[in-house]
Amino acid sequence: MRNRINRMKTYRMQGQASSAKLIFIGLRLVSVKVLNRYRKTQELRVIKKDSVPQDAAGKGKRMLTGKVALVTGAGRGIGREIAKTLARDGAFVVVNYNGSKERAEEVVSEIGAKHAVAVRCDVSDFAACGEMVNGIVKEYGHLDILVNNAGITRDGLIMKMSEEDFDAVVATNLKGAFHTIRHASRTFLKQRAGRIINISSVSGVMGNAGQANYSASKAGIIGLTKSVARELASRGITCNAVAPGFIETEMTDVMTDAAKEAVMSQIPLQRTGKTTDIAELVAFLASDRASYITGQVISVDGGMHM
Ligand code: NAD
Repeated sequence: MRNRINRMKTYRMQGQASSAKLIFIGLRLVSVKVLNRYRKTQELRVIKKDSVPQDAAGKGKRMLTGKVALVTGAGRGIGREIAKTLARDGAFVVVNYNGSKERAEEVVSEIGAKHAVAVRCDVSDFAACGEMVNGIVKEYGHLDILVNNAGITRDGLIMKMSEEDFDAVVATNLKGAFHTIRHASRTFLKQRAGRIINISSVSGVMGNAGQANYSASKAGIIGLTKSVARELASRGITCNAVAPGFIETEMTDVMTDAAKEAVMSQIPLQRTGKTTDIAELVAFLASDRASYITGQVISVDGGMHM
């Protein structure tokens, strides 16, 4: 009898041991699974982290980390500075150009080839803008920031201005912005997020003799900005315009000394602006810090317009 009891005890103990073993194996399997999943997320996090540049100290999340930005006309001047500043703040930047591929590639290599790409597109071409925007969304999964910077001048007195010069300026400066916004808005609406920043001009705000075409296009940008801001605000998309004054770039380099002096006399801060003056504001407007600002025209002109 005692033997039977002992045998039963041993069986029970063996049974307990094997169920403990099973539980142990089960636990190990679960922990291996959890560990693998953890490793995977770690890997993903590394890729994500690595896909955007670090700040100067090599640490910390920056304002635009993980965002994809398109800057039109970014091969030189203000656009170039905007592209570099957005990248500095963590964004992956699409450097759009229409002229020199070399200069656009230069901007990309200054930013770092992992964090920027050069894409050729004439913004005055509606279909080409569609291809560019759709290509970005396909390649990078999203588009978060659109900066309409591309612009040209064809100055002349109204009495002598050709229809061609008027049309060319409007086609690039105003229609170009319409084209990119029109195509990007679909993505922004789907995402329920997006930042549109249009580069206008003090000439669009105040008018300027000899620039009827340019001023009309830049004033048009302001109307476009305010209408788009009203239309897309309910989905968390903001649209603002920046109106630079006299900024030192190749565009203003071609002005005569007399014209430069005339402008200088109208600047209360008594100096010309730098491309960084514009780029820093654009980076702010592109960030979450500016989420309650929309439909605004912000002058960066040393006080020319106030
Ligand atoms: P910029 O001439 O140096 O640069 C303009 C860029 O736009 C160039 O890279 C050019 O290749 C590009 N571009 C022109 N047409 C294009 C097209 N069809 N498609 C794609 N890209 C095109 O001029 P900037 O001084 O750097 O000016 C940048 C923006 O700021 C412009 O919209 C300009 O009107 C505006 N702005 C400049 C000043 C200033 O003082 N420099 C003042 C007010 C407003």
